[in-house]
Amino acid sequence: MVGIYDLVIVGGGPAGLTSGLYASRGGLKALLLERMGTGGQAAMTHLIENYPGFPKGIGGAELADLMTEQAKKFGLELEYAEVTGIDKTVDYFLVKTAGNAAYPAKAVIIAAGARPKKLGVPGEDKLAGAGVSYCATCDGAFFKDRDVVVVGGGNTALEDALYLTRFAGRVTVVHRRDSLRAAKILQERAFQNPRIEFEWDSVVRRITGERLVEGVVLSNVKTGEEKTIPASGVFVAVGHLPNSDFVRGLAALDEGGYVLVNQRMETNCPGVFAAGDICQKGFRQVITAAADGAAAAHFAQEWLTLRQQK
Ligand code: NDP
Repeated sequence: MVGIYDLVIVGGGPAGLTSGLYASRGGLKALLLERMGTGGQAAMTHLIENYPGFPKGIGGAELADLMTEQAKKFGLELEYAEVTGIDKTVDYFLVKTAGNAAYPAKAVIIAAGARPKKLGVPGEDKLAGAGVSYCATCDGAFFKDRDVVVVGGGNTALEDALYLTRFAGRVTVVHRRDSLRAAKILQERAFQNPRIEFEWDSVVRRITGERLVEGVVLSNVKTGEEKTIPASGVFVAVGHLPNSDFVRGLAALDEGGYVLVNQRMETNCPGVFAAGDICQKGFRQVITAAADGAAAAHFAQEWLTLRQQK
């Protein structure tokens, strides 16, 4: 078939870009499909301090640009399109996009990542973009001298809280337990920062405000007591959900929707590999996503070579 790709990679975060780098450098005709901008969630991170090679840290967007440039240098094709489904034919896969295009590929790597989870409380959807945000790096600067709330107790929540102290007046972290899941180094920084306060054992019941956020109503999970905190911004950082809807029916997912892979990054569908945050895994970092991406491209290339020899 004319124009068939050896490999189509779905998703342009660190996993997809690294797959693209390894595949194109390895001589494969490879296409990466990304729905928005490359870099994925890493691109929305203000400063990445734990990616080796950058002792001073590197901005997420800058790292994404460098990864993109490096992959394209070896011939990776990049197109902006949202993948809606993947059909399996006898000889190849057909990767379909929202724009009604279909890209034939001998093998596929799914690296579509994850998206922020919502709180699911009244006011959240109505005030999204009007004070409710899922990206502190993107929206933090709008809250100069304003009080804001960050919901969550993981690495994202504390990184967001620390970042927001650059702009905001007071930053209140609302966490549903009395201890944090975040890395110790972030906890120490947050505890030492006089602009950050904590509301422990608390969940958000609703977000108040008509046109703009005015505050949050909290409920203490131990005492049932309710309390209102006035705030102009609510940054939700309560984890992620995999972007795997289009994978359903093609490859096996776990109950949370994460793609199941073996150590060769193979799904249960021969020729379909997965990498990065979309996979069921224990540790989600830029470096583990990049490592997955390298392995997926390597084993996809091996699979293609074996298939050719048959
Ligand atoms: P996590 O899943 O690690 O943390 C989510 C937090 O939100 C937890 O504290 C959880 O509480 C809380 N939570 C979950 N659901 C709700 C809810 N409905 N209401 C209230 N609170 C809720 O997600 P993150 O986004 O923080 O991190 C995702 C991954 O990315 C992790 O693997 C993390 O290590 C990684 N990461 C790494 C960074 C780094 O190394 N610098 C930076 C950012 C992310 P509980 O603790 O009680 O479960």
